[in-house]
Amino acid sequence: MIYLDHAATTPVHPEVIEEMMPYFNEKFGNPSGIYEFASENKEKLQKVRNVIAESIGASADEIYFTSGGTESDNWAVRGIAESMKDKGKHIITSSIEHHAILNTCEFLEKHGYEVTYLEVDDSGMISPEQLKKSIRTDTILISIMFANNEIGTIEPIREIGEIAAEHNIYFHTDAVQAYMHVPINVNDMKIDMMSASSHKFGGPKGVGFLYIRDGIDIANFMYGGGQESGKRAGTENVAGIVGMGKAVELAVKSMNKDIIYLRNMREYLYYRITSEIPYVRLNGSRTERLPGNLNISFKYIEGESLLIMLDMEGICASAGSACTAGSKESSYVLKAIGVPEDFAKGSLRITLGTDNTMDDMDIVFEKINYIVNTLREFSDEYVNLKIK
Ligand code: PLP
Repeated sequence: MIYLDHAATTPVHPEVIEEMMPYFNEKFGNPSGIYEFASENKEKLQKVRNVIAESIGASADEIYFTSGGTESDNWAVRGIAESMKDKGKHIITSSIEHHAILNTCEFLEKHGYEVTYLEVDDSGMISPEQLKKSIRTDTILISIMFANNEIGTIEPIREIGEIAAEHNIYFHTDAVQAYMHVPINVNDMKIDMMSASSHKFGGPKGVGFLYIRDGIDIANFMYGGGQESGKRAGTENVAGIVGMGKAVELAVKSMNKDIIYLRNMREYLYYRITSEIPYVRLNGSRTERLPGNLNISFKYIEGESLLIMLDMEGICASAGSACTAGSKESSYVLKAIGVPEDFAKGSLRITLGTDNTMDDMDIVFEKINYIVNTLREFSDEYVNLKIK
């Protein structure tokens, strides 16, 4: 099998599994316990908090463990909507956010909030000028994703952070696809809140965190015990958090090397596809893009058929995000960047990981080339084009 869907999820690193194992049996204590057997686990959680905080230039008490990206996004948006409702009820986001943000905004709209969805240009980038124009006296939150999960475009986060700070508005970023894949510093980038998810960078599923800058007035997310400073109650997922911490340690060490490795593979595959297969287009930015992301559209084919045939060859890829897979509609992200329908329906998202190799890229190219040519023979439009 060649796995090319690392934006959906990643394999758990063997060292991460090894680190997690004792926390299921030998070290099963509840971190809230007062005896040493339990409080050792509390200390371990604190160590992970430190590791994560250091990875983004934050301090440990600004890191709140959650069940993953979806929860972190929900908390940031709903938490600010609740705590700031007396100041205003206007939120600014983008039209290409993940559904964890879009559906949360839709929920708030039903409860008296107004949401501005910024449009993006043909590379998927929001316009800082447009953002400035959208700010109102009742704007309480700007939530713009760090990098898009389908097309890999990296947003101008530093500029957005500056604009938000100048206007005294909280800035949240969904960094689920970016964290541990590109360097992030919450102070340099003036980020007030940031969502991340462990299973996107070699950690286990069902665990993540929300960074909340010290002093930010945000409503609690879960009511119950005193865990996570009383803001997100519930016995901690100790093994999961320990695994996420180990995944962060490993990713921090290898990030610079991994960026080059992934980018080289991506560029090679991109070059082969675009130079050897006609009627293709790249979706997303050529330069401001996650290192492992390649989103390509092939005219005269159905993306779903391409995916099924790739699957039969043991290659796992995707058409859009995992959450929209199975839907017949072409992707709202591709629509937002203006990809023509005849290209959008033949889209392929390849997201590489460090378990892929350059040899894989040759195999993948050969299979794609063969399948695209085969499928195109079923397109009347393509056959007529060839006859002409
Ligand atoms: N935000 C983005 C940009 C994502 O890509 C994803 C998952 O694909 C999520 C949020 C949701 O994260 P999780 O799967 O941890 O709930």
